[in-house]
Amino acid sequence: MSVVLIIEDEEPIRELIKLNLDMAGYEILEACDGEEGLEYINNEKIDLVLLDIMLPKQDGYELLPKILKKNIPTIMLTAKDKLKDKVKGLDMGADDYVTKPFEAMELLARIKSVLRRAATEKTKVLFDDLEICLEQWKVLKDGKEVDLTYKEFDLLRLLVQNKGNAMSRERLLELVWDYEFEGNTRTVDMHIQRLRNKLGTDKIKTIYKVGYRLED
Ligand code: CA
Repeated sequence: MSVVLIIEDEEPIRELIKLNLDMAGYEILEACDGEEGLEYINNEKIDLVLLDIMLPKQDGYELLPKILKKNIPTIMLTAKDKLKDKVKGLDMGADDYVTKPFEAMELLARIKSVLRRAATEKTKVLFDDLEICLEQWKVLKDGKEVDLTYKEFDLLRLLVQNKGNAMSRERLLELVWDYEFEGNTRTVDMHIQRLRNKLGTDKIKTIYKVGYRLED
């Protein structure tokens, strides 16, 4: 079940959204000011934020970059006729907006569409000239598919999923080759080398005496 955080100080609007989302089967968290909203953003697993702009303590524009930094899709709740607010929110990276007062059907449709888009993006990772499609087990370089073995892809997938963090050779060996494999960490080194060559990237860094890390 997707968790939606509503950050809105006007109680009747919050209640109305809550009612509709509840019926549609979403799990709901509510915040009535910016600080409370931020508290949730930092401590809870949230799939989508509905963000009002005029809020006590911290307004929507202050909060938006903090939400986006956590990679949480966000729909702005804007007042009617405030075209400037809509444009500004989208410019700042919000995924969509709805205008108050809104139709429940419209709000639900937008939430659904933003969540669907976010789910697709999560399985696609871009860096350098590479596009890694985790679900399809496919890597494209400049739009052309790179021929990787199963193990090479699995290795790359782990590095991507732990992007920015070092993975030890032992851990990679254990995860990619399982325990059944009578190999040693040299196997990991060889595969990494092949991956670097095939992908033509210098983003897979060697961490001295530890293992490897995919650079952010
Ligand atoms: Ca407000």
